[in-house]
Amino acid sequence: MSKRDYYEILGVGKSADEKDIKKAYRREAMKYHPDRNPDDPKAEEKFKDATEAYDVLMDREKRQAYDQFGHAGVDPNMGGGAGGFGGGSFSDIFGDVFGDIFGGGGGRGGRGGPQRGSDLRYTLDISLENAVKGTTVEIRVPSLSNCETCDGSGAKKGSSPETCTTCGGVGQVRMQQGLFQVQQTCPACRGQGQTISDPCNTCHGQGRVEKTRTLSVKVPPGVDTGDRIRLSGEGEAGPHGGPAGDLFVQMSVKQHPIFERDGKNLYCEVPITFVDAALGGELEVPTLDGRVKLKIPAETQTGKLFRLRGKGVKPVRGGSVGDLLCRAVVETPVNLNKRQKELLEELAETLGKDGKRQSPRQHSWFEGVKNFFDDMTS
Ligand SMILES: [Zn+2]
Ligand SMILES: [Zn+2]
Repeated sequence: MSKRDYYEILGVGKSADEKDIKKAYRREAMKYHPDRNPDDPKAEEKFKDATEAYDVLMDREKRQAYDQFGHAGVDPNMGGGAGGFGGGSFSDIFGDVFGDIFGGGGGRGGRGGPQRGSDLRYTLDISLENAVKGTTVEIRVPSLSNCETCDGSGAKKGSSPETCTTCGGVGQVRMQQGLFQVQQTCPACRGQGQTISDPCNTCHGQGRVEKTRTLSVKVPPGVDTGDRIRLSGEGEAGPHGGPAGDLFVQMSVKQHPIFERDGKNLYCEVPITFVDAALGGELEVPTLDGRVKLKIPAETQTGKLFRLRGKGVKPVRGGSVGDLLCRAVVETPVNLNKRQKELLEELAETLGKDGKRQSPRQHSWFEGVKNFFDDMTS
């Protein structure tokens, strides 16, 4: 089955910016949201398509891949779903976009319900080893937490919030303005629907207090910089006992002194001696699971890549383990003593005069330079 173009689904141009896309998605979602179209599979399908399109076009990396490779670049069936990764984006945007469509500014709770707390973001710096093998980390997150004294209600112990008499608990009041009746946030309770006559001393009626919490974050093996782990309900507490937001822990993998990572592959540079490079040899190279022996064939040049299969990273979204690529760098000998220098000079004397056999690359380079100058003068 061929899939429709994401831009077409949302009815935006290829150059649409985030704001345009958000607006277009909002329009589609309002029209096709299942809550508004109960038992209409066609509307549900359209809603799903719009959500998928939004999901991809709002993500810079995914959008780039889609622009370049089409649907193949962002196949939602590839990977995803592992512990809140990838596939979790639907609920991510739920808070973002639907918060203000269906919640009347009050988060997911719906009209009149308690307001949901904000989502929080925490950047977690981890070592490459921990990112590859997975780990559990304790983090300290300063945040607004539920007030324990009043259990989030904001009212002093023994008392409880009362239904606002101005709005009858709705949080909104109708006002006559000339010919029109307009709906406004209730000024008496500021939209809460409740008033507190005897506020809690700990939180001064807010229902939440500033607190630093220690949380344990399970980091699955294979994460990379930019991956997010969502801790549901660990964000800011909602005001007046409202539900808490979520905490997003964003991974940031630190630079490693030996290995460089590119997706599932690892790279490292291996200095080899001038003699090993010429005659061949064997040396130990590091991998994330310890040392392994690497055979250096005779006549190895700088830049040659040795691939150690399966010594890379197993991606968090599944798939095969990557490789470790070792790049040979021939090291010119330094601090030579008199005898060693003599040996090298002796070696030089035995080499062919033009170096054609022993240094073919240098030879052909000199030929190229010579032709270049000949061409210039002719
Ligand atoms: Zn009120
Ligand atoms: Zn309190």
